Amino acid sequence: IPSRLPDVGTSIFSVMSKMALDNGAINLSQGFPDFSIDEKIIQLVSRYMLEGNNQYAPMPGTPALRTIIAQVVEATYGRKIDAETEITITAGATEGIFSIIAAFISASDEVILFDPSYDSYSPAIRLNGGIPVHINVYPPDFSIDWDAVRAKITPRTRMVMINTPHNPCGSVLHERDLLELEKIVLEHNLLVLSDEVYERLIFDGLTHQSVLRYPALASRSLAVFSFGKTFHATGWKAGYVVAPEYLTKEVRKTHQFIVFSVNTPVQLALAEYMRTPEHYQSLGKFYQQKRDFFLKQIEGSSFEPLPCSGSYFQVVSYKNISKKSDVAMAEDLTKNFKVAAIPVSVFYNDKTDNHLLRFCFAKKEETLAKAGEILRKI
Ligand code: PMP
Ligand code: GLN
Repeated sequence: IPSRLPDVGTSIFSVMSKMALDNGAINLSQGFPDFSIDEKIIQLVSRYMLEGNNQYAPMPGTPALRTIIAQVVEATYGRKIDAETEITITAGATEGIFSIIAAFISASDEVILFDPSYDSYSPAIRLNGGIPVHINVYPPDFSIDWDAVRAKITPRTRMVMINTPHNPCGSVLHERDLLELEKIVLEHNLLVLSDEVYERLIFDGLTHQSVLRYPALASRSLAVFSFGKTFHATGWKAGYVVAPEYLTKEVRKTHQFIVFSVNTPVQLALAEYMRTPEHYQSLGKFYQQKRDFFLKQIEGSSFEPLPCSGSYFQVVSYKNISKKSDVAMAEDLTKNFKVAAIPVSVFYNDKTDNHLLRFCFAKKEETLAKAGEILRKI
């Protein structure tokens, strides 16, 4: 039967989580916390359900949630946005990304993305008839060569996708990157899809460089966020897209036919919970401690950590341990040593294998300590 993604298999996150489960391995592969979320927000969801908020939410999201997001965006990035016309609540960042691409990418439009790239980007572009134009970035810092980007621009280029803090690399973009991007975008009349789901998971005193901080860039950008990361609730699948009205209008057209609207009681609970800034302001510190705890656990092991400035992923090189492929190494580690990780090559379209594994440190200290005990012995 003809199909649209014949070369695409099951997502690496499902594959590795299943392998971890089947083999009784500690799961540091798929990115999700193994600790409980704040009971207060669970109580809010149940309260809103019991109070009868169980029918469809408005298509673009409940007004209360959009209002508080606008306030938080202004307080965080200094950009005034209109809750009515510039924010759309989506079923996680994944749906936000898909709705944006479906709204703007037509047959043969080219979209520039940087590999390693999150696994949903390229299929979303292809399903909409677009052409992913992959530019590789490399360890240790995975920095972008903006002249290489300029060299890839053609009359068909429509969009550039960025992700900061970065999954899987843990790298972040800096002010100079955003300024370069801004120049390119304005010069060539492009759109930017900026995946900022880890906006609050940034370490060592660095500042998250949101496109929303740069007015000219923001006028051409769609920024994507996820409550899953900020409130430790990846299973709730709630996120949002911030974009100028003329872009938001188009995103809502696709969003309304992909999911129409997002879980009502969860939106109402999030709106109330977000009124307390302490609930998200300390997130960077919280995850920096986890990163450092994990690094301490693998100190003295043969794994070499790469710099990690943000996200909840630590990339390590195992080149001192084995020459096998990273896919084989991840499988060996899961099946024989009982710690699951993600091979980084799967995020490169050309499967570049730098002998790197990604470990998720959004875990309880006891989980990280147990994993560390194993990893130190390899
Ligand atoms: N983008 C990136 C970079 C991610 O890491 C994730 C989640 N792993 C997503 C998008 C999707 O987020 P959500 O779970 O909210 O759909
Ligand atoms: N974003 C998570 C990760 O990178 C997984 C999301 C998913 O399973 N689709 O591990």
